[in-house]
Amino acid sequence: MPQVTLLGPGIAQLCATGFALALLLLSPFAAPAQQHFNGAKALEYARQYVSIGPRWPTSQNHQKAEAFLRSHFQHDQLEEDVFTASTPIGPVAMRNFIVRFPGKKDGAIVLATHYETNYWLKNINFVGANDGGSTTGLLLAIADQLRAQTAGGKKLDGYSVWLLFDDGEESIGSNWTDSDSLYGTRHLAAKWARDGTLSKIKAFILADMIGDKDLDIQRDSQSTAWLVDVVRQAVKKFGYERYFFKQPMNGLSDDHIPFVQRGVPSIDIIDLNYGPNNSYHHTDKDTMDKISAHSLTIDGDVFMETIRLIGQR
Ligand code: ZN
Repeated sequence: MPQVTLLGPGIAQLCATGFALALLLLSPFAAPAQQHFNGAKALEYARQYVSIGPRWPTSQNHQKAEAFLRSHFQHDQLEEDVFTASTPIGPVAMRNFIVRFPGKKDGAIVLATHYETNYWLKNINFVGANDGGSTTGLLLAIADQLRAQTAGGKKLDGYSVWLLFDDGEESIGSNWTDSDSLYGTRHLAAKWARDGTLSKIKAFILADMIGDKDLDIQRDSQSTAWLVDVVRQAVKKFGYERYFFKQPMNGLSDDHIPFVQRGVPSIDIIDLNYGPNNSYHHTDKDTMDKISAHSLTIDGDVFMETIRLIGQR
């Protein structure tokens, strides 16, 4: 769909002729001759996925969410990492999904999102359109690109890319603690430390709540400095500076932390400012009408460019 409201800098020169204007009206962004990520596709994936409904651990819908991912990646290199989490409600079966796209260079870049919703919000119809849903859609659309680039046994130009859909990011109880949160990534980081996989990971890039129509990604203080710089470089290429790193974010607990703690270069791409005074966060207001193809296009552009830049290091 044309999105004529999203015209960026440089527009004045381009409007010199009616022809140029017509082109602009037909294209989602002002920047000419630059391929953009398919945020509309990511949004559509998010819509399909979120339509499953609330999907907290132990629920029927969680199994539907698992089936959705399994079906989507049935022809890819999919690993299901099953484990039992020790939680305030007792042992809970959880499952991370890892999809691997091979690269020419030795080593891997992990792109991660959690995919479940909060157990403690099970009574309010919390569907997590932005929180878990939007970034699941984003990674599904990124997978489409990586799949095309690796079709017929080809390899990606840089490092392998592993997409991680992790379980149990959210706390089970309403009170977030270090022991009641990040179940999937804590489990996986420990497992990958034991089996040596962790040493292969060049970067761990987390996507969280960045489908928000009003995109303002904070600068997470615990993210690795060089990786922040690489993302900044990617942001600059597209002229997306106004959406990124305007505000600092200190002491945030999120899925990158188990990897940060083990010395893996990591970054959290998060917009924890969702609705007026963050009033949509963890409420029944976190619905599809609050997220946009435009934001997912920005995310996808920056993620794909970041992967490319890391591959050149
Ligand atoms: Zn959340």
